[in-house]
Amino acid sequence: MQYIIALDQGTTSSRALLFDQLGNFVGLAQAEFRQIFPQKEWVEHNPNEIWESQMTVFEQLIKEHHIKAQYISGIGLTNQRETTIIWDKNTGEPIYNALVWQDKRTNDICERWKKGEWSEKVRQKTGLVIDSYFSASKIRWLLDNIPQAREKAEKGDLLFGTVDTWLIWKMTKGKVHATDYSNASRTMLFNIKDLCWDSELLNYFEIPENILPEVRNSVDFYGNFRYQETNIPILGVAGDQQAALFGQTCWQAGTAKNTYGTGCFMLINTGDKLVVSEKGLLSTIAWRIGSKVEYALEGSIFAAGAAIQWLRDGLQIIKKASETESLAFQSPDNHGVIVVPAFAGLGAPYWDMFAKGAIFGLTRATTQADIVRATLESVAFQTKDVLELMLEESDLQLPHLQVDGGATANHFLMQFQSDILGVPVQRPVCLESTAAGAAYLAGIGAGLWEKEDLVKRKQIDKIFYPQFSETQRIEKYHLWQEAVMRILTK
Ligand code: ADP
Repeated sequence: MQYIIALDQGTTSSRALLFDQLGNFVGLAQAEFRQIFPQKEWVEHNPNEIWESQMTVFEQLIKEHHIKAQYISGIGLTNQRETTIIWDKNTGEPIYNALVWQDKRTNDICERWKKGEWSEKVRQKTGLVIDSYFSASKIRWLLDNIPQAREKAEKGDLLFGTVDTWLIWKMTKGKVHATDYSNASRTMLFNIKDLCWDSELLNYFEIPENILPEVRNSVDFYGNFRYQETNIPILGVAGDQQAALFGQTCWQAGTAKNTYGTGCFMLINTGDKLVVSEKGLLSTIAWRIGSKVEYALEGSIFAAGAAIQWLRDGLQIIKKASETESLAFQSPDNHGVIVVPAFAGLGAPYWDMFAKGAIFGLTRATTQADIVRATLESVAFQTKDVLELMLEESDLQLPHLQVDGGATANHFLMQFQSDILGVPVQRPVCLESTAAGAAYLAGIGAGLWEKEDLVKRKQIDKIFYPQFSETQRIEKYHLWQEAVMRILTK
């Protein structure tokens, strides 16, 4: 038996997952690492702790499953995106902690960058909006604030990488300084049309090109990781959301996945077509395999699982997230209650940062179950808002929606999602889509399987088929849209 190991380096934990030669998920090891909050809105990780935790779980996985290194055909790597590390290539030591994607210390740098035509230029070139979320302003902050960083960078002594690049460099003992197209496209420095680091942006942002990694295909040879006197090749790399899209086998234009966690992360494959959104969706490279680049549109929903947490911790009308399912089934048509959980404003397609949440349609007969049900429905409505925008801007049709994440355990939510979208919702047996994506990429690189084999072997746990009539769907969605209109501040 041959295996693939996926390393899934996430925001709060490092994981290693084992897949067999048919692409089946076998087991995993996981370790959390330190979150560092030096001050308000600053979020850091220690790059050496990231590396050590990743190695710990790798070894733990191998030991627990009694796998010899020679039976590992390859490693697939997926990672928290945008998080920025700069290190000295001579000593191998980071010049500062990793600035995590959530870190907001560079908001003011981004505000300055938004001058004149630059917002539009950045959008056209990188598919992104100027924001502290992406790597560019974090690199700039490190070069400006860490003593001697800029001089060293100009002398060619420093290297920048997102977490994939850092781990590849460590695994290859400093031989390979590379990233893949999906990760590069989240730096706000990569021209996703021309497929190169954009010199005009680098000039404007004052970032020297020599610190940037080489950009390679998502299926490629990234060097060997030497373990137990064996060379294990690193063969697949993708940022976490793109890896999840790949892992959900969303390989045709129009196929989409939604991850229901604290927030929702939705991506739709737009094939070889780069769609630059007019309404605040992000365009990104999904992956590049062979000479073929595929693009995706990405949208997120701030309050999904977070709204369920609010029912539990804020309102305290449930004890556990899983109770919401049976409560929702007890509420026939939620008695007209609509919950709009705009706890952090509203994202795409409304973009109103000042909107506050609201509950509509209360009567003396309103029950706890109605509010619970309406909160679950709000997750599905928000998903529809983003998906409709994606379909409109890309001019694509959605055959079905692939789902994963913690809240997909909720039957009510999944059924209602299908009802309100009017397409089937498919939940796979293996909910580890992100790691599966990295493993699938590496397995293609190792020649263990072709894409077609993976599609054939894919196991679906459950398909939720739409049960609403067209009229029901329109009426219900209309109520939601009206409620949203009433909380907009402009
Ligand atoms: P994250 O990776 O963002 O922590 P997970 O994928 O682990 O998220 O999903 C956890 C989220 O899903 C929590 O916000 C929780 O409230 C919600 N959740 C978990 N189980 C259920 C359920 N059965 N019904 C509704 N929501 C759920």
